[in-house]
Amino acid sequence: MPVDHLTESDVLKCLKWDQLIAKMESALGQLADRTAVQPVKLVTPVPGKDGVLLTMPAYSRTNNALGCKIVTSFSKNKEKNLPSVIGTVMLLDGDTGQVKAIMEGNTITAWRTAAASVASTIHLHEGKKGTLCILGAGVQAKSHAQAMQHAFNFSKVKIWNRTQSKAVKLCQELNLGNVMCVVCDSAREAAQDADVICTTTGADKPILESEWVKNGAHICAVGANRSHHSEISVPLHRRAAIVVDSMDTAKEEFADFIQQGIRPWGEVGDLINGRKSKPNAEVTIFYSLGMAIEDVLSAQLIYENYKKSS
Ligand code: NDP
Repeated sequence: MPVDHLTESDVLKCLKWDQLIAKMESALGQLADRTAVQPVKLVTPVPGKDGVLLTMPAYSRTNNALGCKIVTSFSKNKEKNLPSVIGTVMLLDGDTGQVKAIMEGNTITAWRTAAASVASTIHLHEGKKGTLCILGAGVQAKSHAQAMQHAFNFSKVKIWNRTQSKAVKLCQELNLGNVMCVVCDSAREAAQDADVICTTTGADKPILESEWVKNGAHICAVGANRSHHSEISVPLHRRAAIVVDSMDTAKEEFADFIQQGIRPWGEVGDLINGRKSKPNAEVTIFYSLGMAIEDVLSAQLIYENYKKSS
């Protein structure tokens, strides 16, 4: 079987927000009904090189989609003018295991994470979509602003970033037309009055405090992972209903919060599948822990679109 190699530009041509958001709703639903097969992420350190290899396999019974994302992170790559994080997604034939395609994966990560956040917002935040707040101005900040605007057309977008010049650049790149894009001097200013807040930083200390967040707001916590899951303050965690993509992963990555008595409410997939109704809380937080099934279903969608266009 010939193997297709899809570059970043091929991947981008085959991605459409509406299709991807629907796929991510399906991926999150499959996680909740336990039809997705997704072993725990395997972490292989590369001693002496400041490197790490992450292997993230998954299989969707519903879509007969099999694949694996491989992510390497080598901090010294910057000195060599290379990206420090390199993602690659391999899509396999679900019946034979043969490799069908190898795709540039950083773009898939950026898009699928933002599409999953939109899916959470559809199911957790039915109110008016007036103001969007983005904390951060990197890759995830951009994809989140694009996906959220595509899905909800907020009337105002507020961006805060540690390095303000990057927030200014992001506002320009987003090119939101009539929509007001405001660069804020502080995270407080950006978060106040926002209906939806996306935290997309590598911060290792809280950048979002409870008193800045209004009742009814929905937060998509993207940069909050095991190594630095303190983007959001403890009082805000206690005030909110915390909804995750996967309880199995949350048990691992959330262990120290669980020890402090902060427990996730459940999986967003249960809302998508109609098994549970929206939690009754002042604030909702979707904790995006990053799922291999999202990568594999994205890759299958990209491959189908690629084949249709070639
Ligand atoms: P980028 O490197 O593109 O952007 C990083 C952003 O974080 C920049 O805005 C940077 O600000 C900011 N930042 C870094 N350190 C701090 C700090 N100490 N305080 C405040 N801001 C800080 O990264 P990505 O956009 O790719 O990733 C962002 C986050 O999302 C990371 O934590 C990453 O692990 C996580 N992630 C989560 C995924 C998921 O599935 N949930 C998927 C992919 C990424 P500045 O411009 O000033 O440097």
